[in-house]
Amino acid sequence: MVDLYGQYRKIQTEVDDAIRTVLHHTDFVRGTAVSEFETALAHITHSKHVVTCANGTDALQLALMALDLQPGDEVITVPFTFVSTLEVIVLLGLKPVLVDVNPNTFVMDVEQLEAAITPKTKVVLPVHLFGQCADMEHVMTVARNHNLYVVEDACQAIGAEVSFSDGTVRQAGTIGDVGCTSFFPSKNLGCFGDGGALFTQNDELAAKLRQLANHGMSQKYCYARVGLNSRLDTLQAAILQVKLRHLDEYIAARRTAAAQYNARLRHAGNLRTPATAPYSTHVYHQYTLRILDGSRDALAEQLAAHDIPHAIYYPKPLHLQQAYQHLGYHEGDFPVSETLSKEVLSLPMHTELTADQVQYITEQLTINN
Ligand SMILES: *Cc1c(COP(=O)(O)O)cnc(C)c1O
Repeated sequence: MVDLYGQYRKIQTEVDDAIRTVLHHTDFVRGTAVSEFETALAHITHSKHVVTCANGTDALQLALMALDLQPGDEVITVPFTFVSTLEVIVLLGLKPVLVDVNPNTFVMDVEQLEAAITPKTKVVLPVHLFGQCADMEHVMTVARNHNLYVVEDACQAIGAEVSFSDGTVRQAGTIGDVGCTSFFPSKNLGCFGDGGALFTQNDELAAKLRQLANHGMSQKYCYARVGLNSRLDTLQAAILQVKLRHLDEYIAARRTAAAQYNARLRHAGNLRTPATAPYSTHVYHQYTLRILDGSRDALAEQLAAHDIPHAIYYPKPLHLQQAYQHLGYHEGDFPVSETLSKEVLSLPMHTELTADQVQYITEQLTINN
């Protein structure tokens, strides 16, 4: 699905030098590269603040911790996402309230948002799935009208841009009160292990997030709040500094591969190529098809027989997972998410994908269709 070694080989000298510099300084935790990377990422995303942390899941947890919520407060999110989004809400004793996703864009169906709001609702948590943003103008308007916080799960969408009707353009993660991203190796900006970051435009929230990610510490051995040990390693920050310089190229490479897939698959009758929303650019963290005639699993087997990597994100929506049965949702509650889980098929998508590879993959896909 990805070619991390091929990507590394192209920037090997830069990366190896960056790693050697950290080894030389031995500032492995909270080292210079961490603050330098935060500054560079803030600059590139036009975010006032960036606070790094240990992974994307922690970023989501820290974001919710910073909002001083009470147990039982409600957070509206979607069931068609990676588990972290829901997991952190439940871990913090908050109540997830789910709304279904849009069948074309796979992101939160904002038409359902207003109806999900109750007097206990405090946060809306949209997920920018597969590299495309939720309809943030709609989310922000509803949130403002109901006095709710917005936390963005931008773990799959770094670099995606949302256009607002007043002409402004904002990057994924920098629109809500807090945005979260992940540097898991296969993410669009990935490190060589785990990593994450938070975006905020609010000085007070930035200071709070920074404390929370470092044991809630205000000054040395003074703890202002209950926090986490969630820091980005200096080695990872140094690697990310290098890779950040290539982010534009990486996004362009993914878009080129997606355009090649689209051109080759557009006329395959039972396949639906990924839809692009009018308000968001797409950075193609995943290239995800819908297979409309019930043949998804057969098609997946066909790909497997030709050793073509493929994946199903996500095979079971979160409201049907054993761990989350206590939330009281049932089969049929989110029909779009449930249908998508039976229809979606993600193809290899990465920065090193060649036109020949795309051709081979699409030939195998369309051979019997
Ligand atoms: C990857 C991902 C996360 C979690 O990130 P980690 O760094 O793996 O903890 C959360 N939400 C979404 C949508 C993701 O894709």
